[in-house]
Amino acid sequence: MNSSRKVARIAGIDISIHWTFLLLVGWVLFAGMSRGIASALLEVVLLLSLFACVLLHELGHAAAARYFGVPTHGITLMPIGGVANLDRIPRNPRQELVIALAGPAVNVFLVGLMLPLVALLSDLGHFVSPLALGSSLLSRLMWMNVALAAFNLTPAFPMDGGRVLRALLAKRLDYRVATKWARNVGQVIAVLFVVFGAFYNPMLVLVALFITMAAEAEYQSVLKDYTPVLPAESSPVSKLVAGAAPRVPHAHTTWATRLPNGVVLIHQLGPTH
Ligand SMILES: [Zn+2]
Repeated sequence: MNSSRKVARIAGIDISIHWTFLLLVGWVLFAGMSRGIASALLEVVLLLSLFACVLLHELGHAAAARYFGVPTHGITLMPIGGVANLDRIPRNPRQELVIALAGPAVNVFLVGLMLPLVALLSDLGHFVSPLALGSSLLSRLMWMNVALAAFNLTPAFPMDGGRVLRALLAKRLDYRVATKWARNVGQVIAVLFVVFGAFYNPMLVLVALFITMAAEAEYQSVLKDYTPVLPAESSPVSKLVAGAAPRVPHAHTTWATRLPNGVVLIHQLGPTH
């Protein structure tokens, strides 16, 4: 993709930044200028830190996927969030469950790291004022990570929480039926997003639309490509079958979150072609 520029390679995964990301940086800088250049620059630092957390979230998915033998072709950061381009979504419910949870788990882990540091900086800030500023910035970043984890775990398939739901259903139900019910639950939540978004944040309406379309596309893809997968634990042979689950060309997860400044982040997990 020419619209993205590769900026790094982490654990063999190309990290790219979409050019429109620069627009977001410019907008945050511009919006913050009313309170002075120093304040504006701090907002940019916070934004970049947030996207570092988004990147770590994506790497969490990628690491879990790699553990199950699924390569990640790349991660792209865009203004609306990150995209982890996984080769496929495993048809094994346990594997999908672990991969879906790995992203939010990273954010929960980061919150656990930041919490004592925020408290420490806050205490020291009574004596050294720059540390109080550091504490308030880190505290905001910490709450953004809480929001990232919580929002992504909303059971709106194909967001992370929706994948968890599908995986749990697929343990008991036929894979297609599980996907259908995960989609249905996601559609109900999408309607709630539309109602809530109409009053509070129009971007949520777009997110709802995106979730609805992505869920339907994945459901249709599951119907089209369906081949039965035996439970992984039942025999060594079925383990191989489960491991070699067919590619789901259009499979992807979406998440979105609303930041305190009104920016909505969406992320996809899976092939985007
Ligand atoms: Zn995720």
